[in-house]
Amino acid sequence: MYDDWNESPVQTQVFTNSSDYSNWRDNSQPRRPRDDRRNNGYRGGNRGPRRGGNDDVTTIKVPSKFVGRIIGRGGSKVNDLQFESGAKINITKETEGDETFIKLSGSNDAVSKAESLIRELTIERESYVREVKEEEPPPQDETQEEPKIVDWRSVFAKCDEMEAEKWAALPPIKKEFYFEHPEVASMSEEEIEAFRLESNNIVVERTFKNEDSKPIPKPVVTFEQAFHKYPDILKEIEKAGFTTPSPIQSQAWPVLLSGEDLIGIAQTGTGKTLAFLLPALIHIEGQNIDRSKRGGPAVLVMAPTRELALQIDKEVKKYEYKGITAVCIYGGGNRREQIKVLTDGVDIVIATPGRLNDLAEAGHLEVKYVTYVVLDEADRMLDMGFEPQIRKVMYSIRPTRQTVMTSATWPPGVRRLAQSYMVDPIQIYVGTLDLAATHTVTQIIEMMPDDDEEKFRTFMNFATNLDPSEKVIAFCGKKARADELSTELTLAGLQCQTIHGDRDQSDREQALLDIADGTVQILIATDVASRGLDIDDITHVINYDFPRNIEEYVHRVGRTGRAGKSGKSISYFTRGDWGQAKELIAILEEAQQYVPEELYKMADRYSTWKEKKDASRPSGRGRGGGRRW
Ligand code: AMP
Repeated sequence: MYDDWNESPVQTQVFTNSSDYSNWRDNSQPRRPRDDRRNNGYRGGNRGPRRGGNDDVTTIKVPSKFVGRIIGRGGSKVNDLQFESGAKINITKETEGDETFIKLSGSNDAVSKAESLIRELTIERESYVREVKEEEPPPQDETQEEPKIVDWRSVFAKCDEMEAEKWAALPPIKKEFYFEHPEVASMSEEEIEAFRLESNNIVVERTFKNEDSKPIPKPVVTFEQAFHKYPDILKEIEKAGFTTPSPIQSQAWPVLLSGEDLIGIAQTGTGKTLAFLLPALIHIEGQNIDRSKRGGPAVLVMAPTRELALQIDKEVKKYEYKGITAVCIYGGGNRREQIKVLTDGVDIVIATPGRLNDLAEAGHLEVKYVTYVVLDEADRMLDMGFEPQIRKVMYSIRPTRQTVMTSATWPPGVRRLAQSYMVDPIQIYVGTLDLAATHTVTQIIEMMPDDDEEKFRTFMNFATNLDPSEKVIAFCGKKARADELSTELTLAGLQCQTIHGDRDQSDREQALLDIADGTVQILIATDVASRGLDIDDITHVINYDFPRNIEEYVHRVGRTGRAGKSGKSISYFTRGDWGQAKELIAILEEAQQYVPEELYKMADRYSTWKEKKDASRPSGRGRGGGRRW
């Protein structure tokens, strides 16, 4: 441990001219206590360091191995340090031996504070590294017994047997509650097609094409058609004042009431909550087990964030049906109160995966009685790293349950979840293209080579030439890329903030505050973390990585040109994005924007390639749609 200031690995040098390295400061002064409050007291008067000011520059040296720690993920740590201290911290590329020079500028107090924080950071990490080393396992004892060979086949067989025993004790699940209305039954294929087309062009299909699947239920046009056997539900809808089902509801209700697993590719605002909620209410009431005698909830809804969980809870509590009760459990909420509601007995649990696992492991929540599961915003949950928690909970729920998943996008991770936990799901895509949003934005497409260098150079050039009145959101496809860009901007002396799924809720909120109040001019974001991002004066959207689907493009572009202002979007488009060219052209043409010739060519080349590929694909059964276990 570096208990003594002199033992710290940081050395200090003060000079008033950046080329002067001769005047070392005596660093035997006592260490100041660290103020652990994040940002408190430093905002307002001290909004980040000034660029190009006349302050003296203090140079300190740190072991180069700590530079990454000081910069933090995507520059987040150094940003924090700058805000906390009020000093400008410039981590130079200059080194001496295995040490790197860091230049600090600002008021004396700010520089001292920054220096002290950096020392703290390096001291803590050094001791951590040492402790870890001490815990290294002792060398293998050569006299140890040979490892036993495990007969995995019999282990698996035993597991299956135990699983079957566990579930056999529970009453069977009832999943079919649908009574097709005569008006729906009489709809022709053409009428159905036409209805889906005019309902925001909803697309419905089996996720894993399977010849043995049952036909997909026809959509309903009215509430009456869906719930004619459930007058109490109809009364609740009437109370809410809704006139027609939303597109996802039209298709999801017949599917879910038929007991099928469902994937809804839909964003917030499409009515997706009610789409899975009303069938859930009917499902709860219809189980053979007496609700009061059940040892746990019948419906479990997992959601990525506290905000979304609370939003779902609010929606659930608007509908009264047969005395069904719900509780919302999330990290940061009153644990004791949540436990009490669970112990008293509740039908629906809406939860974030972390707190859910916590309460299940502590024995306060029994998920084995769950017969209807919803994974809401699955893509976002995966982006936030909740996959292990989701898998753990799903493993404890009966395999014969009904499973619903919603997701705004359809990346491989979500597909994997569907394959593991759903039985031959039906998938509904709901277009949410709000094209009007793109009409107030000048959309520029910059064609780029596939290697990242050109993109990076173009972006840095753009960022360093920003006008003080401009504000930018740059979208990246991956969290790592967002971090990388943010680090580079920080190293170039530009203030920026980052928002993505790996950042804490409080850091994300801070990032939004900083871009909203102008503390920073650049926000680097990933799609998932930026949903609902609502800042009025964004002048530019940069699509550093082109989005995975055109809905996301429209969503991103709509982050600028808001509140009657004009905006500009600049999209870097590479050959790897060619699959999106056709749809992008349609958007650009519709909004009367310039379409580069190369984009047309790319769209043609892609169509030709795809036709060839489809022609060569073997026909027959697709991938399996069964559960893995
Ligand atoms: P959601 O997409 O679930 O976040 O829902 C967005 C909003 O739409 C919520 O406030 C719902 O109450 C509302 N909503 C749900 N279904 C309908 C409907 N059929 N008609 C009008 N509004 C609806």
